Amino acid sequence: MKRIIVAIDGYSSCGKSTLAKALAKSLHYAYLDSGAMYRAVTLYFLDNHLDYNDPGVVDKALNNIEIHFERIEGQNHAFLNGVDIEHAIREMRVNEHVSPVSAISAVRRAMVRQQQLMGKRRGIVADGRDIGTVVFPDAELKIFLIADPDVRTSRRHLELAAKGIDADWHEVQQNLLERDRIDSSRADSPLRKADDAIVIDNTLLSEVQQLEQSLKLAKERIPTA
Ligand code: C5P
Repeated sequence: MKRIIVAIDGYSSCGKSTLAKALAKSLHYAYLDSGAMYRAVTLYFLDNHLDYNDPGVVDKALNNIEIHFERIEGQNHAFLNGVDIEHAIREMRVNEHVSPVSAISAVRRAMVRQQQLMGKRRGIVADGRDIGTVVFPDAELKIFLIADPDVRTSRRHLELAAKGIDADWHEVQQNLLERDRIDSSRADSPLRKADDAIVIDNTLLSEVQQLEQSLKLAKERIPTA
């Protein structure tokens, strides 16, 4: 059966990764967490005390960064230069720097190149901010997820708590809104809905309901012949 690409974009903490992982599992496709790649680059700058506002430093860093994903006990883990960084990239210090780092064109070029290679054979569900507009403009299904900002904040707050990260609710909200602002207003690949994307508002939807809606859309687009 022919395999398609599913692109899921939207604001921070809209449930994109929850939906993307569930869809990938149902369709037996690969899952690409593009945000984890921008987080990995950010972690590299922070841990090595590098100034990402210096283009020379950025170029050198990008040559020294290798990012890949591995499945560990059924979970997707990001690796940076051979080290499992899945936990570290979700910390608040990374949240605070990831949007400025993601606005750097050299960083985007390097990440997009790798993402496009990962989708070469199709059969992939990718989530991010520019998946339907830049990374896979020819994706057969594009979903633009939206949700109420307070609901998004509570979801992220719970997610952090579940990981043992104790964050203030208002700080979490401020960070989400600030990332949305930077992600939507940057010059290179700003977050926006692709013209042919389908909007799903999951404020009042359960995870099962949003999966059912999306799975139906995906199946309608998978050629059977
Ligand atoms: O999806 P996640 O919240 O992990 O993404 C972290 C950050 O990475 C976003 O706020 C955004 O700045 C950046 N990002 C991006 N393009 C993508 C995915 C994420 O610029 N495709």
